[in-house]
Amino acid sequence: MTLATPLDAPTRWASRFAALGPAFGTALPPTPLPAPYWVGRNPALAQGLGLNPDWMDSDEALSVFTGNHVPDGARPMASVYSGHQFGVWAGQLGDGRALLLGEWDTPLGPQEVQLKGAGRTPYSRMGDGRAVLRSSIREFLCSEAMHALGVPTTRALCVTGSDAPVRRETMETAAVVTRVAPSFIRFGHFEHFSHHDQHAELRRLADFVIEHFYPECAQAQGNPYAALLQAVSERTAVLLSHWQAVGFCHGVMNTDNMSILGLTIDYGPFQFLDAYVPGHICNHSDSSGRYAYSRQPNIAYWNLFCLGQALLPLMDEQQQALDALESYKAVYPEQLFARLGAKLGLAEVTPGDRELCENLLRLLAQDKVDHTHFWRRLSHAVARGDFEPVRDLFLDRPALDTWLAGYRERIGGQSAEPTGTRMLQTNPKFVLRNHLGELAIRAAQAKDFSAVSTLFTLISQPFDEHPGHEEQAGFPPDWASQIEISCSS
Ligand code: AMP
Ligand code: MG
Repeated sequence: MTLATPLDAPTRWASRFAALGPAFGTALPPTPLPAPYWVGRNPALAQGLGLNPDWMDSDEALSVFTGNHVPDGARPMASVYSGHQFGVWAGQLGDGRALLLGEWDTPLGPQEVQLKGAGRTPYSRMGDGRAVLRSSIREFLCSEAMHALGVPTTRALCVTGSDAPVRRETMETAAVVTRVAPSFIRFGHFEHFSHHDQHAELRRLADFVIEHFYPECAQAQGNPYAALLQAVSERTAVLLSHWQAVGFCHGVMNTDNMSILGLTIDYGPFQFLDAYVPGHICNHSDSSGRYAYSRQPNIAYWNLFCLGQALLPLMDEQQQALDALESYKAVYPEQLFARLGAKLGLAEVTPGDRELCENLLRLLAQDKVDHTHFWRRLSHAVARGDFEPVRDLFLDRPALDTWLAGYRERIGGQSAEPTGTRMLQTNPKFVLRNHLGELAIRAAQAKDFSAVSTLFTLISQPFDEHPGHEEQAGFPPDWASQIEISCSS
């Protein structure tokens, strides 16, 4: 059964966040774009949300998701937040180009719907309020790639484009991504009200988040806001364990890009690792490597510390915040090794397995082994009992052989076939490598959207074989390492 379109049921747009009041943002309509066209759509998500497929095909939907038509009952708004960018207090930021269109009751629960790239807002500062086609396609594809890999993330319903020019380093064209999440509240929202000593608003925001997303904190022993900080620390630890295990670099882990729900949010210069290089920096603007792959877990903790600082006015003593943050340090490694153990096909992960994992990561780094190929080949090797394709990936074969001997002994008691099959459902064949996104973007810039759609299919079912698409599962070409992705989007 499909539900009525949102347009048939205007009250479905009312947003609980918008009802918090004018201190939290500014109501304003999106700025229309000329002659929009579809760039990509996510039928599975549309269906999951209960959207009528006929409506998703309509000009009205195209118009709504470009920001050219505000549906009855919707009251779009831009929210205000602040944050630390690259380790420095950046002051007031806010939705400079995103608009919360409203909220839907869906079979997936209440979901906020945002248009990113919908025009200037009071928080645009020097920006034009637009998003370019290139970065919109990257966000669309990556949020669904992450979702399919089981990583908590905001979702993307569609991308529309327009030939309206947008100036970045060169002239590009505009696009709008419609993204969907239970909430887009960031650490920076809390920092904003705390910094301005708006303690009533700070409390209202924290109570809102507890009521709707962390109800167990209301009942927790002690201070509920300390309980919230602990719960967010735990979710963030889970998120980071996913990122590190799938080889995802976010690229701009500023506190305004950290979701209070522990979701991956604000896809910018992200990258999935090709070679396993722990120090890899995916953001061309990050000259000091603050957000390098291996530093992400520590940066998340630093960001949680900022959140803790922001919540202090709601606590009785500083120690409550410090104690709450401690949970990150316990949960992150536990979750990381659980995920690495699953990638290794271990039915159960024991403390002794940490050494096995750490030794492996050291070998992968030493030989700069391709991350995705290693795990996929290891999965096939376990299933078939032939480890030569894994050995082919390494230079230091004696060191690998020593590790493999220990690994095979460790999984020796497990039956090979189901273990291999499980590993093939854990270690993807397809990830959104930079060069794949780049090829799809180049075609889309020439108005051929078929590569976006093909890639979308592959990364939406990343564990399937997809015969005929070996090229997209291959090693990156030489030019992949020359791709420079910066904050400019
Ligand atoms: P980001 O680095 O994308 O997380 O953006 C940081 C801040 O800059 C946020 O407040 C964004 O809304 C804002 N911003 C980024 N790009 C633009 C743009 N083109 N126009 C207006 N605001 C922008
Ligand atoms: Mg951002």
